[in-house]
Amino acid sequence: MSVERVNLLGLTRPQLEAWVLERGGKAFRARQLFHWLYKRGESQFDAMTDLAKDFRAQLNAEAEVRLPEIVTRQDASDGTIKWMLKADQAQGFEMVYIPETDRGTLCISSQVGCAMDCSFCSTAQQGFNRNLSPAEIVGQVFLAHKELGFKAGDNRIISNIVMMGMGEPLANFRNVIPAIRILLDDLGLDFSRRRLTLSTSGLVPQMYKLAEETNVALAVSLHAPDDELRSQLVPVNRRHPIAELLAACWHYIDEQNGRSVTFEYVMLEGVNDSPAQARALARLLKGHPAKVNLIPFNPFPGTSYRRSSMQVIEAFRDQVLKGGVMATIRRTRGDDIDAACGQLVGRVIDRTTVRLGAKRIGVVAEAAGAQP
Ligand code: SAH
Repeated sequence: MSVERVNLLGLTRPQLEAWVLERGGKAFRARQLFHWLYKRGESQFDAMTDLAKDFRAQLNAEAEVRLPEIVTRQDASDGTIKWMLKADQAQGFEMVYIPETDRGTLCISSQVGCAMDCSFCSTAQQGFNRNLSPAEIVGQVFLAHKELGFKAGDNRIISNIVMMGMGEPLANFRNVIPAIRILLDDLGLDFSRRRLTLSTSGLVPQMYKLAEETNVALAVSLHAPDDELRSQLVPVNRRHPIAELLAACWHYIDEQNGRSVTFEYVMLEGVNDSPAQARALARLLKGHPAKVNLIPFNPFPGTSYRRSSMQVIEAFRDQVLKGGVMATIRRTRGDDIDAACGQLVGRVIDRTTVRLGAKRIGVVAEAAGAQP
């Protein structure tokens, strides 16, 4: 009969230390183990040669390093890679690697599906199934290193991590925070806080909590310069309108001594892309630590939105710049394999009876905040 082994992946360094101490081990053993796991990407205890033999035997008996399983891998013509990972028999979530000349970005998921119900996002159409565990969140980075052939001492293949995959990270606060701690730990994956970005659709109370817990870079899905339109595009705006959202953003930057918040703005033809809307956006953000990142809309089956033309997107950017706010256009990557923003669908069986687009939004926020 096999005993249930503890998955060490996803334990923060203090949690791993506590686990080792409980078994009569020494704290420095936990640090060695942590180093092997994350700095060297080793998942076999027997390969951890400087660990005492009896400690390795104990690890083999009681613990394991369980990575998410790969269901499919697709390579796009521009070098972007998308993996679907297994959440359980019927469900999957996705991660995407985006190579560029000067960096490599890994886009990771925080939930299977999403309950936020943004009208222009294909993940939303899938509904919400469950939160990913810390092991499943950190496991994506661990697995991507393995898949990309990362060796200890290599220059970083993954220089940046963005929590911009499937799901709303702040609706899975209690699992996302330990994952962030492991990613930032200098004995662990050792990412700098400026190269780890959390993107939120605007769960305001959790943004204040985030400021107490960590200092990673913050991106916010704004998408409209006024409440009427934003409430149509991003339903959580009905509960936390723009003024409240922006106050939470400036608070975060103050608390964290951050540089600026990146405001994502998806360019939807005839919906939010007029010069007047660009000027209104600049007025909202001017004088604050803000930059705007314009995302050309990525279509998906069943959507009636269309992408603004490049000419319109460039004109919009120029208006925002003229209004005194930094603005850039996000290059669309991996769209031939549906790996671009808003195209991640995985496999999701919807378990929510109400999503945020519906009236009883409070119910879903609680469901989304619950543990898997
Ligand atoms: N839930 C978080 C994380 C998802 S990030 C958030 O909302 O920020 C993914 C980014 O891609 C968000 O800014 C999202 O609004 C944007 N996006 C969603 N669907 C898109 C689409 N079809 N085309 C382009 N961008 C999209």
